[in-house]
Amino acid sequence: TTLLRARGLVRSYGLTPALRGVTIDLGEGEILAVTGPSGCGKSTLLHCLAGILRPDAGEVEYREHRIDTWSEAARSRLRRTEFGVLFQFGQIVPELTAAENVALPLLLAGTGRREARTAALSWLDRLGVADLADSRPGQMSGGQQQRCALARALITEPRVLFADEPTGALDSLTGEQVLGQLVRVAREQRTSVVLVTHEPRVAAYADRELALRDGQLDPTGLGLAESLPG
Ligand code: ADP
Ligand code: ADP
Repeated sequence: TTLLRARGLVRSYGLTPALRGVTIDLGEGEILAVTGPSGCGKSTLLHCLAGILRPDAGEVEYREHRIDTWSEAARSRLRRTEFGVLFQFGQIVPELTAAENVALPLLLAGTGRREARTAALSWLDRLGVADLADSRPGQMSGGQQQRCALARALITEPRVLFADEPTGALDSLTGEQVLGQLVRVAREQRTSVVLVTHEPRVAAYADRELALRDGQLDPTGLGLAESLPG
């Protein structure tokens, strides 16, 4: 079944067109890669799908509710409860420990401290970084920080995870390890994933790939993954 659906999305920044009519569906539990060169509109598409940005035209439906017309407050609430986001840079708070960072979304949602910490420790353990619970980001590697950011994105058990170049700041081995964990956990939780990337190796982890070119779906349908040898 379709969880998230966008029809004819158009979005410009001033005179710069970023999306020129994009239509996509995301199935329940599906891992969808959105690929294409820098500047083709991937981030803009992700932001429109996640309700961060409003399209100029077109519509976004989540579980058959049209969400692009919702108020900022309503979209923000939807993001906190149903969606998780992971960006290129860990966006984790340097003053807080790993466990505190991961617990943050639950604390903001009103969960008690003890319960939030227990959940955070369990997520850190699931991502193989339990030993870092009381470390601060400054003491962690990029890959370790990104695992914390992933744990924080997933602790609310979102139905959709939006990941924008999640491995872009990591070396390729570390990036593949983090991605492997992202995909494993998404499958276990049946979390749908929109994975924005310009890297063929990253796209190969997805169930399906949509290639964007100049703000439109590439009509050849030939994405990056297909151009990989083997
Ligand atoms: P990608 O994620 O594929 O690199 P983006 O969605 O970031 O593509 O950008 C699509 C186009 O929109 C590019 O031409 C980019 O320069 C432009 N753009 C993106 N964000 C902004 C912004 N905040 N202001 C002006 N132009 C922007
Ligand atoms: P990506 O890594 O997804 O391609 P960028 O590094 O191009 O994203 O953009 C990072 C931030 O800068 C985003 O918030 C994007 O909206 C904004 N941005 C991108 N292009 C422009 C632009 N031409 N003018 C202003 N802001 C931009």
